[in-house]
Amino acid sequence: MTSGRKKLIFGNWKMNCLVADQANFISELEKNRSNFANPSVKVAVFPPFTLLNLLSIQLKQFPVVELGAQDLFYENKGAYTGEISPVQLKDIGCEYVLVGHSERRHLIGEKDDLLSKKVSAAIDAGLKVVFCIGEKLEQRDRNLQLETVSRQLSALTGIKNLTAENLVVAYEPVWAIGTGRNATGAQAQEMHKYIREVMKVRSSQFAEELHILYGGSVKSANIEEIISKPDVDGALIGGASIVWNEFFDIISKVNKLVG
Ligand code: PEP
Repeated sequence: MTSGRKKLIFGNWKMNCLVADQANFISELEKNRSNFANPSVKVAVFPPFTLLNLLSIQLKQFPVVELGAQDLFYENKGAYTGEISPVQLKDIGCEYVLVGHSERRHLIGEKDDLLSKKVSAAIDAGLKVVFCIGEKLEQRDRNLQLETVSRQLSALTGIKNLTAENLVVAYEPVWAIGTGRNATGAQAQEMHKYIREVMKVRSSQFAEELHILYGGSVKSANIEEIISKPDVDGALIGGASIVWNEFFDIISKVNKLVG
């Protein structure tokens, strides 16, 4: 596999699932245990905050499935009512955290300077960041997609301790998220290659080792086309990641593809 990069299959549960759903997830996971034996494929789930602690305890019997949070605040503690800190996430066993998901950029209004602080704080606490970027439909229609992701990536400039180990970039075109309209494999490859090129600003080795995921209406019917592209190192999956048999089917297809 290119540069030793693995295939990462990450499930973003968004603001979905109750305690009963996650219990069901664990029992389905038990039945699909054999699906998780491929050392070249890494799986993580990003449940809502309410399920993180419970899931963290239950996933101890499935060390091959890692845990991530969907957001964080940039301070470690203090009077920030309603926020969750990087050290709190680390404390309950999170390995990853999403930063800059398009729903937070566009529904909540998070901007580049806030996202930079979040990335920095997460890295300092020992979390791995999945930094989400992607253009809106009107930007693609005006052929501004490269310029848009390049500006979004510039939020990482100046963050010192970033490595290809603690950073994952997720390219998620906004027009493909939750819409049922995925980017084609060729569109994903073109953008991922561009992102890798932009990341050479850190070093060629950094760019070569960096995992770049595609997100946007990934399901078992399109995973093979997308993931077979050389610069696509996995997928960040929303809707299909909470339909358990669909999620396991995706993992099984990726397992077969990487051998
Ligand atoms: C996401 O939430 O990151 C996502 C890609 O959602 P969906 O797969 O539902 O488009």
